[in-house]
Amino acid sequence: MGDAFVVVGASLAGLRAAQAARRAGFEGTLTLVGAEPHLPYDRPPLSKAFLEGGDEVPEDPVFKSEAELADELDLDLRLGTRATGLDPERSELLVQGPDGESRIPYTYLVIATGAAARTLPGTDGVAGVHTLRTLDDAHAVRAALDAGARTVVVGAGFIGSEVASGARKRGLPVTVLEALPVPLTRSVGPDAGRACSELHHRNGTDLRCGVKVAGIEQDGGKVTGVRLEDGEQIPADLVVVGTGVKPCTEWLEGSGITLHERDGGIVCDATLATGLPGVYAAGDVVHAPHPLFDDDVLRLEHWTNAQEQGTLAAKNALDPESAKPVSGVPYFWSDWYGSRIQFVGVPAADEIRVVSEELDDDRFLALYRRGDRFTGCLCIDRPSQVMKYRKLINKRATWQEALEFAGVG
Ligand SMILES: Cc1cc2nc3c(=O)[nH]c(=O)nc-3n(C[C@H](O)[C@H](O)[C@H](O)COP(=O)(O)OP(=O)(O)OC[C@H]3O[C@@H](n4cnc5c(N)ncnc54)[C@H](O)[C@@H]3O)c2cc1C
Repeated sequence: MGDAFVVVGASLAGLRAAQAARRAGFEGTLTLVGAEPHLPYDRPPLSKAFLEGGDEVPEDPVFKSEAELADELDLDLRLGTRATGLDPERSELLVQGPDGESRIPYTYLVIATGAAARTLPGTDGVAGVHTLRTLDDAHAVRAALDAGARTVVVGAGFIGSEVASGARKRGLPVTVLEALPVPLTRSVGPDAGRACSELHHRNGTDLRCGVKVAGIEQDGGKVTGVRLEDGEQIPADLVVVGTGVKPCTEWLEGSGITLHERDGGIVCDATLATGLPGVYAAGDVVHAPHPLFDDDVLRLEHWTNAQEQGTLAAKNALDPESAKPVSGVPYFWSDWYGSRIQFVGVPAADEIRVVSEELDDDRFLALYRRGDRFTGCLCIDRPSQVMKYRKLINKRATWQEALEFAGVG
């Protein structure tokens, strides 16, 4: 048998891994295994343009047609097929597909199974309660918005906030419930979290912070509202739960791969190697040390990271002797109410300085410092600047250099 390159998880990181394997000259059997029935598709549009109203029904954001994938990659594409285990002794992936259970032998394996949305306990099967992770979720949420749903979003994170924004764009009433006193404090810090909250207030979303959800009200299996711990009930036809994700790794328990004690993500080294021969991982599922940030172990849920890691994992798997570490400066964006929020770098900082106030500018800008280094930047509506800050972080600029660049040094 010739060499076999297997990728598990047919989304962004998995697709990029498959493409990179071919680009690197791999000529053996290339198999892409995905649990969902859909061709690989892009997730960011699902909580943005896809949810906004309008007469035109948006197309599913698939990356390529099956014919294009076959042409470009000569791919054995196994959709609707879930990995159920890994046998490193025999170098085989165990899968459950439309034709039952089988084993796929690999020489090289890239695991890119991403993460699944956390659900609200006790809401399984209640109509009108959704998470937003998959294309199917997005279709269901969109249909509810089309029907004019009174919308409650649980969790004022990025995806929940984008849903709120889409619903408001249609003129629907929206309430966002957040347990923290200030949203996004953990991901970007309190000042930036407050600046993002302002966007909700300005656009007519009822953002309630410091509240706890006690449960869902339902009638005949359909949601009618959300009950808070203080007894208040908020009427709802649609509840979108945006309370974070969990890496999809249950199937790896006992395989010899180290799973992170906090969330079960895959613990890799800086080259995305898992420690098992030939087995690498990429994307939202990965915890890996980042050389640019004192080898902090990061698990990123960012589009650019998934794409960069997918490519890197495949190259490193094929050529471990010259494996390279992860290197890109983390970057994500989020679109709320016509504003673009962008973050580069890492949020854990010794100081977060809101620079826009010093500049007397209502387009928000905050800089993040670690020791004497500039390590992060959050911008709202400054698209032409953010990549310049990204370059500064990449060249390990000092805090003083960043302040001078911003015009406040
Ligand atoms: C609604 C939404 C909006 C987003 N917007 C932005 C944005 O604006 N900006 C930004 O930077 N990032 C955004 N992201 C994040 C970005 O899309 C993710 O970082 C990216 O999709 C991660 O890619 P991935 O391939 O690692 O994992 P995923 O996209 O999660 O894909 C993993 C795939 O593996 C499959 N899988 C899981 N378990 C198994 C198994 N056992 N066997 C086989 N297959 C399996 C899953 O079904 C899934 O298809 C958004 C995410 C969502 C959900």
